[in-house]
Amino acid sequence: MNWVSSPRLEGRQGPAEDPGTARLGKLHGLGVRIAPGVGRLLRAATRWVVALGLLGISVDALGADPAYHAPIAATSPVSSSFGEYRANHFHGGIDFSTSGAVGLPVYAVADGWVWRVRASGSGYGRALYVRLADGRTQVTAHQSRFAPAIAAFVAAAQESLDRYEVDLSPGEGRLPVKRGEIIAWSGESGAGPPHLHFEMREGADANVGVNPRLFGFGDVDTTLPVINRLVVTPVGAGATVEGEPMVRTYPVIRDGRGRYRLAVPVAVAGAVRFGLDVVDPAPRDNRLAPQRIELLEGDLVHYDVRLDRFDWTRAHEVEGFFDLAQADEGRRFVLNLYRPPGATGPEYGTMPIGAGVLEPPQPPAGRSRALTFRATDTAGNAATLAVTLRQSAAAPLLPPPEVGISRGVHARAEVTAAGLVVRLPRGGDSASVVLELPSPPPLWGHFRRRETPSRFAMVALSRSGAALLAPPDRFVRRPVLQHAGGADTLDVIGIPRGGAVRARFGDLTIQLPDSAAFHPFWLGVSIDSVQAVPGFEPVSAAYRLTAPGVALDKAGRFVIARNLDKMARNIGLFRKGDSGWSWVGNEEGDGGTGGNTRYFGTFVLARDASLPSITILEPAVPGGRKSAPPSSRPVLRIRIVDTGSGLAVSTILATLDDVPQLLEWDPEAQVLSGTSRRTLPAGSHRLVVTATDRAGNRSLAERTFTTR
Ligand SMILES: [Zn+2]
Repeated sequence: MNWVSSPRLEGRQGPAEDPGTARLGKLHGLGVRIAPGVGRLLRAATRWVVALGLLGISVDALGADPAYHAPIAATSPVSSSFGEYRANHFHGGIDFSTSGAVGLPVYAVADGWVWRVRASGSGYGRALYVRLADGRTQVTAHQSRFAPAIAAFVAAAQESLDRYEVDLSPGEGRLPVKRGEIIAWSGESGAGPPHLHFEMREGADANVGVNPRLFGFGDVDTTLPVINRLVVTPVGAGATVEGEPMVRTYPVIRDGRGRYRLAVPVAVAGAVRFGLDVVDPAPRDNRLAPQRIELLEGDLVHYDVRLDRFDWTRAHEVEGFFDLAQADEGRRFVLNLYRPPGATGPEYGTMPIGAGVLEPPQPPAGRSRALTFRATDTAGNAATLAVTLRQSAAAPLLPPPEVGISRGVHARAEVTAAGLVVRLPRGGDSASVVLELPSPPPLWGHFRRRETPSRFAMVALSRSGAALLAPPDRFVRRPVLQHAGGADTLDVIGIPRGGAVRARFGDLTIQLPDSAAFHPFWLGVSIDSVQAVPGFEPVSAAYRLTAPGVALDKAGRFVIARNLDKMARNIGLFRKGDSGWSWVGNEEGDGGTGGNTRYFGTFVLARDASLPSITILEPAVPGGRKSAPPSSRPVLRIRIVDTGSGLAVSTILATLDDVPQLLEWDPEAQVLSGTSRRTLPAGSHRLVVTATDRAGNRSLAERTFTTR
């Protein structure tokens, strides 16, 4: 590999120019909860601040760019930072914790007009996009109410569209706002606990997210980033860390204020790259991401990224920016200090692809390298980690006859974040090898015998006797090493960076479009065992696809063959990820049933025979305890729960006397709620609720009640 360390990078690339449409992923709000008494104090403080606002006294946050008004009173601390890892996207703004309270005023930060307004029970909830006079766009989300003019505009659209969920573009001049005007009140719509999610964006399509801290938004950050550990990953054939072709994690020692070091030098062979586990602590136990990360060696800058901007059309590149394998284990703040192939975002500046990968120096023998990792927050508080790197040349690739693999010799193999690691004994001379996964129960597999001996040029032996197959970008131009074995086998496929891939393992077919991968990787396939639970009855073999730390750039298609005659309805493809089983799809084709996803995990076809459960909470059962007769505009509250494939939200429908109702669906609470759309005349009325799950199971519930 010939990745070159670049000299100090000063110029930064402008915003990406990809003209695609905005992709707004689900937002995970991470506000803090504090004691109710404190919340009351804060609400009192807020009233006081608002009173000052009415007197014409500025309520700008400390340090904010004077051109902008604060979006919320300065008593709300920042609880999540810009660019943090979220499943499949960067966190697009900063979160202001409202300490459990809802209803805090939300302000326009400058003169402008409402460019987009959305109402939804999920994602951003009630969200406002205000196009500012300077061309930027302010985004605020999860609000409990809009200001009256905006609320009336939304309500009229909901009335005419017969639905609660709307995404509207009012057009310039329709809903103008003034700097400091209250545009909404904070809440927890879409994602709780209560907080205000606040973004600044740039571009005509508002596709470039900008760090609001750059404009001084948010409370003053006086804490230093804290460096927790260093992750070292071998890159390429023959590369090792401490003699092993494996990822290794090093704890750090704190040497003083903002100064850290490792207890020991890091001994590596060949090229390596790094991950840095670093958080910026904030008041009330909040954990934020730093703004800038550098890897320095004397005057050389090997890596330098800033979480200043990202491209919403490429927001899923977060999965290369952060270490996905670490995030999967709950460590969300481990940054990958290299620019992966296929990563295009403005956060990388002008660094070339591969920047951050350290090749051995020439000549490599006996040289120690002094590396400095530096993490800086938006206020300029910095922490550094000093690392001594002892780096020798990669273990040489041995020609096939010397590799020493015997036909049928057992070896241990696993697909790791560093690649495919195969350990095998010395001796022998054939082209076939048996793999054994180290975790119980043992899984066995072997490469196809028709693979030619030259394939095994891929195998290199390190000094420790472990063996490493080269990463697929060196040798694999198409999928190889596929095994047609039965159960309990490990099949391995090399996924190249470019070119479409089609591979079959038993009844599972994988199709990846051209350039689906950010970078080449190994994918292990083995048979998993799966338990049936209500709403989830497996009807096929389960295939576990292992590729730690890897998500695809473009979704692949996963299909499991099924006999259409023998199987009943309500069957679909499910995937098991970190949060359990989820529905992928039930499209028929390619001789089976499947769907598209960017994530690996365990795949199985399962039948969902359980119906959604619908419980009408209000109006209450007539004649029951606490059953005062409903008012003429009754509150409607319905709980809908589905096990298995999950609700198809667009199918949820509530009608009152055959009139569709405008109710908000809260997927976290699993409650559909609102008030009757019309004032009801005295008499008998009928509420009917229907919902269908993704597997096609439909339920209906109804209640007849009387108003006076
Ligand atoms: Zn947020």
